[in-house]
Amino acid sequence: MRKQIVILGGGTGGTMIANRLRKRLASSDADIHVVDRDNRHVYQPGLLFVPFGLADPDEIVRPRRRQLHRGIEFHEDEVESVVLDRDRVLLAGGHELAYDVLVVASGARLLPEETPGMTGPGWGERVSTFYDLEGAVRTRELLDRFDGGRLVVDITDMPIKCPVAPIEFVFLADWYLRERGIRDRTEIVLATPLDGCFTKPIASKHLTHLLGEKGIDVEVEFSAGEVDGIGGVLTSYDGRTIDFDLLVTVPLHGGAAFVGRSVGLGDALDFVPADPHTLQATARPNVFVLGDATDLPSSKAGSVTHFEAELLDRNIERALAGRELEAGFDGHANCFIETGFHKALLIDFNYETEPVPGRFPTALGPLPLLHESQLNHLGKLFFQWIYWHALLPGRDLPLVGPNMPTAGKQLAGVAEGG
Ligand SMILES: Cc1cc2nc3c(=O)[nH]c(=O)nc-3n(C[C@H](O)[C@H](O)[C@H](O)COP(=O)(O)OP(=O)(O)OC[C@H]3O[C@@H](n4cnc5c(N)ncnc54)[C@H](O)[C@@H]3O)c2cc1C
Repeated sequence: MRKQIVILGGGTGGTMIANRLRKRLASSDADIHVVDRDNRHVYQPGLLFVPFGLADPDEIVRPRRRQLHRGIEFHEDEVESVVLDRDRVLLAGGHELAYDVLVVASGARLLPEETPGMTGPGWGERVSTFYDLEGAVRTRELLDRFDGGRLVVDITDMPIKCPVAPIEFVFLADWYLRERGIRDRTEIVLATPLDGCFTKPIASKHLTHLLGEKGIDVEVEFSAGEVDGIGGVLTSYDGRTIDFDLLVTVPLHGGAAFVGRSVGLGDALDFVPADPHTLQATARPNVFVLGDATDLPSSKAGSVTHFEAELLDRNIERALAGRELEAGFDGHANCFIETGFHKALLIDFNYETEPVPGRFPTALGPLPLLHESQLNHLGKLFFQWIYWHALLPGRDLPLVGPNMPTAGKQLAGVAEGG
């Protein structure tokens, strides 16, 4: 009997793991099913560039189905719930999918309506987000119309996808407003619930210094509790206020709604608890999870999703053969941080080690870590090609895998636990 592998979500993680498994497992041994609600795969890192006219929507969207290798069955349907006790997925269209192995790759959901006032009057006019395609397009229109005043970029609360994206947004806004000649009559503020601009202290220090150089203010420990989109006021839970002329928000995130409807699968935020090293879900031994859907302390980033996928295909093969899983994922994350004016930083870290200066991927590597360079910027731009042509099809990248490289990093004296 052929095994049934069902993958929920056909985004970054779902597509990668489906293609990797199709290469690894013979069609006579396993059927692979991918479920997603639509046929539109968005290259999400490209959303950062849309508001500034540096990318157009049609450059960053491709049909999902076409990213999946032959021999993978795509179901364009909404996942209603998972019945763990019966090893079945219920789809909104009325179908049921039985599985031997389930992979949850349903990402994170934006929840702007959870913050009072955010999606009320002023939403799409004076308040916007760039975290989805429609929002990024709208933010571009609002920035085009923006003629100075106070631009506030706000992280409502953690966790969020790509924690560096809001920092990149303010760097690019600084560049964009200078190009338009209106930077001198604009204040840019980054409001964050964290006690620095980023989660990790050494990178936070470097980035705070750069933000200061560019005259960008950072309001720390600011958890947004309410938005007045007409009056232009953002209020924190502890009663502090920030006035704005334009608010670009990163809304609250949660896991997929079906996770909450599936008894025993998720946590209070609808993320899926899993073993941090094997990616096996806590709920059941035949359920695995990767990408933004997990509750893991790794970053919610495409790079993390890719490193997880490189281990998970092996672990699913092991699970099908009744063998012990490999505890091989170390939380490896790797992000280019666009800083404007054709430059970018690069950070590389894992569960244990925070981003530090040095070279990547080896001591003689071409890319400087935690240091602005044009090569890093070119790396960020070239990444889109790598995404469509190497990562999604399930190819490994040489020298960049699930385990963080240490050669090239200035680790002496760095405390672990970053
Ligand atoms: C603005 C922005 C910039 C970013 N920049 C970077 C970057 O520079 N580098 C980086 O590494 N990462 C970046 N990321 C993060 C990266 O895009 C995500 O971490 C990555 O896409 C996660 O992959 P995933 O498969 O977990 O989720 P996704 O790719 O989001 O896929 C989840 C899929 O599940 C589907 N789904 C959910 N619920 C259901 C349901 N009930 N029924 C059917 N289908 C469902 C969704 O439609 C979606 O297709 C960025 C993200 C954003 C928003």
